[in-house]
Amino acid sequence: MQNNLLETPIEYLKGVGPQRGDLLRKELAIHRYGDLLNLYPNRYIDRTHYYKINQLVNSNSEVQIVGKIVHIKTVEQKRGKRLVATFIDDTGEMELVWFQGHKWIKENLKINVPYVIFGKVTSFNGLFNMAHPEMEFLEEHKASLRSAMQPVYPSTEKLANKNITNKTVNKMMQQLFVETQALFSETLPDSIVQELQLIPKNAALFNIHFPKNQELLAKAQFRLKFEELFYIQLQLITKNLIRKHKIKGHPFEVVGENFNDFYQNHLPFELTNAQKRVIKEIRNDLGSNAQMNRLLQGDVGSGKTIVALLAMLIAKDNGFQSCLMAPTEILAAQHFNGLSDLAKNLNINIKLLTGSTKTAERRIIHEELENGSLDILIGTHAILEDKVQFHNLGLAIIDEQHRFGVEQRSKLWKKNEIPPHVLVMTATPIPRTLAMSMYGDLDISVIDELPPGRKPIQTVHRYDSNRLKVWKFLKDEIAKGRQIYIVYPLIQESEKMDYKDLMDGYESISRDFPLPQYSISIVHGKMKPADKDEEMRRFAEGKTNIMVATTVIEVGVNVPNASVMVIESAERFGLSQLHQLRGRVGRGAEQSYCILMTGHKLSNDSKTRLETMCATNDGFEIAEVDLKLRGPGDIMGTQQSGVLNLHIADLVKDRDILQLARHIAIKILKEDPNMTKPEHQKMKQIFLELSKKKNIWNYIS
Ligand code: ADP
Ligand code: MG
Repeated sequence: MQNNLLETPIEYLKGVGPQRGDLLRKELAIHRYGDLLNLYPNRYIDRTHYYKINQLVNSNSEVQIVGKIVHIKTVEQKRGKRLVATFIDDTGEMELVWFQGHKWIKENLKINVPYVIFGKVTSFNGLFNMAHPEMEFLEEHKASLRSAMQPVYPSTEKLANKNITNKTVNKMMQQLFVETQALFSETLPDSIVQELQLIPKNAALFNIHFPKNQELLAKAQFRLKFEELFYIQLQLITKNLIRKHKIKGHPFEVVGENFNDFYQNHLPFELTNAQKRVIKEIRNDLGSNAQMNRLLQGDVGSGKTIVALLAMLIAKDNGFQSCLMAPTEILAAQHFNGLSDLAKNLNINIKLLTGSTKTAERRIIHEELENGSLDILIGTHAILEDKVQFHNLGLAIIDEQHRFGVEQRSKLWKKNEIPPHVLVMTATPIPRTLAMSMYGDLDISVIDELPPGRKPIQTVHRYDSNRLKVWKFLKDEIAKGRQIYIVYPLIQESEKMDYKDLMDGYESISRDFPLPQYSISIVHGKMKPADKDEEMRRFAEGKTNIMVATTVIEVGVNVPNASVMVIESAERFGLSQLHQLRGRVGRGAEQSYCILMTGHKLSNDSKTRLETMCATNDGFEIAEVDLKLRGPGDIMGTQQSGVLNLHIADLVKDRDILQLARHIAIKILKEDPNMTKPEHQKMKQIFLELSKKKNIWNYIS
């Protein structure tokens, strides 16, 4: 019965009414009682309690503590100085930290005088600390007035203008608890509540809105975050299972002539174990009756191309066509050349289709596609045009998936009645936990091993003022026969300026590396595709020493003899972009280098990015840092960031809970795949309601 009550339109709540109801709907998407109940506070202000240091918990809310400073020191760091004070009470010690305003603070802090400090505590290496605390002498503090522990709710400017303050929302919440008598039914199976020692739903909701103390608040947060993530995982996992059982794919039953011939006679190198494992995973998928939907992650240079080819050979052996889509013409052309070369001893028809394919050639491609004599089509978005009709598309491979929107993928899909198997290849390592929650309905294969003999790329950060030394280094490398990339940023908003930077840079490089001793290629977005290709080709063939370019070369370009990557204005690139760019070198046997050039003025985030790049070559590690700096929304693109629409959990901060939720969801579905057990009925009901409401998991299908 409580659940019915929660469906009541919000304006019926005493104190709301039609006008406020309208505002709540528009501003906070609160339509019904239940929506208000799920409006969780962003944070809490607690000035009723004084915490002892040994009572602190990591709940990200503000606390106040009485104690005194016993020691102050300045700590030098790579990223600037910090002022650190040791603060104690009779139960323990913690640290107070300031990043700015050291001098003034240092001069005014009193040692061994009782203070009341107030702020957020976080724990680091087992020690709690508070950054930039509010501080007051205990004496003064005693004389002033304090309000009760208060939740702070999300708000908007409009709400504030209409005088719907935090206090108003708080009152509504109280009213909601009165009208519903705070009887909210349990929403998780008993077994889970017991196993994880969760507090009951009732208590969680009460304490999230009216926390009795920090400890109960932390428990309430944990319980509600877990629940939110658990139901998402339940959706994603069942969807995946359903796809495997219900969505028919073309079963590629034979692994035949072409695959075996290539595998036994024409492999240009021994596959790494990771490649072998991934090929096996793909073969299993393709051989089953279900449609494959697999994400193949592998760092730049890990050897995804040959995996793609082997998968396409299986399609061919089963009488099906394949296509491979790349985000740029250069990349598509490179795939075409690379794959044609790999498959040169096989009897396979491979063609390239891009925006600049000539009409006559295009006509042949269309014809061969339709009559089935074209086995593999490689191309750009051009493949997606309606005119392009396959005879029987059995496998679609998409390289660098983050450049293709969901819509585009599903467009490929619509080209056939039975959907083709889909393999999405990406060199942007998405941390596994995040991949699980964003792509939980995709299977994931990871190539986590580089081909043998690669020397790790050495990365350094150099200031513009040291350019002469860098240029000298480049000349030495060129003298050894190496080739060099010099990359300039091209960010859309400042395209004109960037273009000028690029051309200025090109001119000065031309002066510093003069003909005939040196020759330089240039590639940028304003050139005609044919000219770009010509320049790329000259560089790839070793006819030029230096390639000056914008980020068009970011993905995929393969010139093994190029051993130095210079990135200009490196502070303007994102981490994953820097990592992608760096991946252009280190492909041959020689030691490779990446030089990140910047001015002296750098933000903290830029410094972190540069330090990370210098510290590691591991794409997954880099992705983790990127995730922390940017948050998941940015990484996945706006399109997908809003998709999950989380009320309380945070995919980055709550990754441990996410993992736990996934683990438990898998366990439950293993025991009871159709959720038929009596103790799972409530869960099933909630699950079904959510599936109805949020038909948003269709990223790929
Ligand atoms: P990416 O995963 O970035 O697409 P590629 O498929 O382009 O990587 O492979 C990068 C380079 O490594 C290519 O020159 C390729 O020929 C080579 N390569 C791939 N696999 C192996 C292997 N197992 N042993 C040696 N070289 C390999
Ligand atoms: Mg590649």
